Amino acid sequence: MPPSYPNIVLRLPDWLEVALPPAERIYTSREERMDLVVDLARQNIEQGSGGPFAAAVFDLDSGKLLAPGVNQVVDGCCSIAHAELMALMLAQQLTGSHDLGGSSHPPCELVTSTEPCAMCLGALPWSGIVSLVCGARDEDAREIGFDEGDKPNDWPEKLKQRGIAVYRDVRRPQALAVLRKYRDLGGQIYNGRSAP
Ligand SMILES: [Zn+2]
Repeated sequence: MPPSYPNIVLRLPDWLEVALPPAERIYTSREERMDLVVDLARQNIEQGSGGPFAAAVFDLDSGKLLAPGVNQVVDGCCSIAHAELMALMLAQQLTGSHDLGGSSHPPCELVTSTEPCAMCLGALPWSGIVSLVCGARDEDAREIGFDEGDKPNDWPEKLKQRGIAVYRDVRRPQALAVLRKYRDLGGQIYNGRSAP
């Protein structure tokens, strides 16, 4: 008998869809889009449903939210269930394509409450997004104990060379406040093994 492997299922928490503004809402600025993402990160910790990180993919033509994501590492039993990857995977499922940069799609932007870790950074060029918006810096995540992995110092420039515009420090104080709140609440720091 071959082994019966379970399907790999990652679910966003139940509160998230209820918490979202109406789907027709148009987000006209990067700050507006980040405000939503930081709020999702805050709710993820207040609801006890994951780490202090959220992200979302937006359709840049319409300004509408395409797919939200929140960190689901612990609840999902999945070390790769970072908010950025949750949002990208959901956007790709909803559009029916592995490539958000395909000619049949509007340009897509990923907004993330904290700069991408080494794993998520590696996933960005394959996703097809054309724009990345970041709130807190990776040193902010490190400040509360998360390991962001090994990234080249010039990673924003590397992304730009691959056609992805990068905007940093958008609502950074608000995003940092969520990280610190998670620490102050005694939230789990779930790194595997950090470099010495
Ligand atoms: Zn990540």
